[in-house]
Amino acid sequence: MISNKLPIAFLDRLNLEKEQLEAFLLALDAPTPTSIRLNTQKSCELFAFEESIPWTLSGKYLKERISFTLDPQFHAGCYYVQEASSMLLEEAFKQIFASNQHLTILDLCAAPGGKSTHLLNLASSDSILVANEVISSRNSTLQYNIAKWGNANCIVTQNKPADFSSFKKMFDLIVIDAPCSGEGMFRKDPNSINEWSAENVEICSARQTDILDSILPCLKDGGILIYSTCTYEQIENDFQIAYLLNNYDVESIAIKNSFQAVRTKYGLQCYPHLSKGEGFYLSVIRKNSDDHLSNPRNLKFKTEKLPSEAAEFINNASNFSHLKVGEHSLGIPTNMVSLFNLLSSSLYIKKAGLTLGIKKGKDFIPDHELALSIDRNMQIPSIEVDLNTALKFLKADTIVLPHSQHGWHLITYKNQSLGWIKSIQGRINNYFPKNQRILMDIKM
Ligand code: SAM
Repeated sequence: MISNKLPIAFLDRLNLEKEQLEAFLLALDAPTPTSIRLNTQKSCELFAFEESIPWTLSGKYLKERISFTLDPQFHAGCYYVQEASSMLLEEAFKQIFASNQHLTILDLCAAPGGKSTHLLNLASSDSILVANEVISSRNSTLQYNIAKWGNANCIVTQNKPADFSSFKKMFDLIVIDAPCSGEGMFRKDPNSINEWSAENVEICSARQTDILDSILPCLKDGGILIYSTCTYEQIENDFQIAYLLNNYDVESIAIKNSFQAVRTKYGLQCYPHLSKGEGFYLSVIRKNSDDHLSNPRNLKFKTEKLPSEAAEFINNASNFSHLKVGEHSLGIPTNMVSLFNLLSSSLYIKKAGLTLGIKKGKDFIPDHELALSIDRNMQIPSIEVDLNTALKFLKADTIVLPHSQHGWHLITYKNQSLGWIKSIQGRINNYFPKNQRILMDIKM
């Protein structure tokens, strides 16, 4: 029972009335709901009969936790497995921005990519997302989750918040899903209870203030900050917003709440006994103005047209500029080039736009990212396979196909692209990336 393991000091700090506390403890001992969010840019007909999550149009609760590893559509980027309360981001976003608004967005603490993939679905297709994650191993996961989602309008960076200090007034929206004491995840991850201490809460709070101080100048005048944590601690939540209100020219924006989140002084707090999800806090502020100058926009990289061997793999090739990084060809959405240039002057860019492939001799080898991209040419020949073949393909094993024509083909399962094969004289070469393959033993 989780409720028996909770530190007394944590319960004292929760500050809930007796009845509420009892309901809270009861909820912590109940099973964690499993939830997913569908990728609205890929037309996957999935989970149609599952219960919808009220505060998002694309979230579903699953009756039971399926093995996502064994679902090819998970590998195709059709959905993201995400805790339901954190999808409250959608409510905040929709109450502030129009769906066709062009935005430059920074998701500062982005791995593994829950908020970033959600933002890519919510923002207009000509918006640009900079998804940053400072920890290298987590950044790799973020890059792959973005690649699976299929968007080219994203730049992944690996930097500390202070590294953004030279990018004053650059972003319309900054999302800070801050590293926190994680009390809201006790039910989902009971081991995290052992890591809780009042000292750690103080450390998290100080770190959050540092992060906010570093990044606030990067908001445009009139820009929006969405700040969230998965904890109940006031010093990590409302107190951080109070700090901003006292020290910067910002105002707090109340998000209408038609669900069961509790309204705090400056934000919304989800509790597992009130809404079906884990503990989560979200607050929104608008920046009025400050004295910082904005950055000059200098172009460093020259834009050039995509080479024809790459262009034929994507739709609307004229919307992309070509950039060669090492031996890789990248397609950078042309409206993202100047931001890419600017950021690359002082940030560590891990991924940008769409990796198209590598030219080897006369051959162009398309990248896995291209197979998952929403911008790929839908006329590319594809071969639809059954579940067993799809899983073999995802294990990067040799697959056998009844008849395949010479050359590059996409392997699809339920019409969703999983990756590339190349067929040469009846031999099938599987190009699924080895570092992403399913390692689990599968009985077939
Ligand atoms: N937004 C993510 C999502 O929805 O999938 C979850 C982010 S998680 C709550 C917080 C992230 O902040 C972690 O990935 C962590 O590595 C990163 N982080 C840790 N320390 C940090 C720091 N000092 N500055 C910025 N980010 C930090």
